[in-house]
Amino acid sequence: MFEELKREVHRAHLILERYNLVAYTSGNVSLRVEGEKVIIKPSGVPYDRFKPEDLVIVNLEGNKIEGELKPSVDTATHLYIYRNLDWVNSIIHTHSTFVTVFAMMEKSIPVLCTAHADVFGAEIPLTEYAPVGSEAIGRATLNVLNKAGVVILRKHGALILGKSLEDAIKKAIFMEEVAKASYFALMSGRIEPLPREEVEKLYNQYHTKYGQSK
Ligand SMILES: [Zn+2]
Repeated sequence: MFEELKREVHRAHLILERYNLVAYTSGNVSLRVEGEKVIIKPSGVPYDRFKPEDLVIVNLEGNKIEGELKPSVDTATHLYIYRNLDWVNSIIHTHSTFVTVFAMMEKSIPVLCTAHADVFGAEIPLTEYAPVGSEAIGRATLNVLNKAGVVILRKHGALILGKSLEDAIKKAIFMEEVAKASYFALMSGRIEPLPREEVEKLYNQYHTKYGQSK
C-alpha cells in the first residue's frame, strides 16, 4: 500500500541523515495519507539498514494497518497531533544538536535574524517536559505551538509540523540552522531580537514572493 509515498518518506529520513539532524536510529518522519492513515518509521531501525518497505502504516487510533515491524515509540505523539490539527500532514522529530542544546538549556529561540523571520515568523517556543511514548508530548506541543509550526521539546529535541513532507523537511533543516546561529549569537552577550513588525514583514514577503512562481 502507498509504495510511492513510502519511498518519499524513506527519502525524507535519508535527507535528515545527510544534514546530520539524526544519528543511528534516532528521529522519525511520518506522513498522513488519505486523511486518516499515517506512514511512520519503524522503531529502532538504524538508517543504514532501513528500507522503504520497513515503514509501518497505522490509523489515527494507532492500530497497525500494514508492516512487519513495530512503529516508532513516538507514534502516539504524531497521532495526537494529526487528530487535533487538520493542516498538519507530516511530522518530523529529531535530536538535532543545536535544537537539543536549547532543549537542555530550557530556552526558546527568539527571532534574532532575517532567516528565522522568513521561515518561521515567530520565536520557536519551548514545551513543558513530557515523557516519551505517550500523548503527553503532543499535548505539550499544542499548548505552546505558534505560527512557527515547530517546537523545542524540553530536555529532549525538536518537533516539526508541516503541511506537507517537503514543508516539514525544510523546517527541520532551517530549525537546526537557526538554532546553531542563535546559540553562538546568544553566547556573545545580550542580543536584541528583531522588532515584531519587521518579523511580520519578512515572513509575509518570504511566504508570498520568495522562490520560483509556479
Ligand atoms: Zn526523541
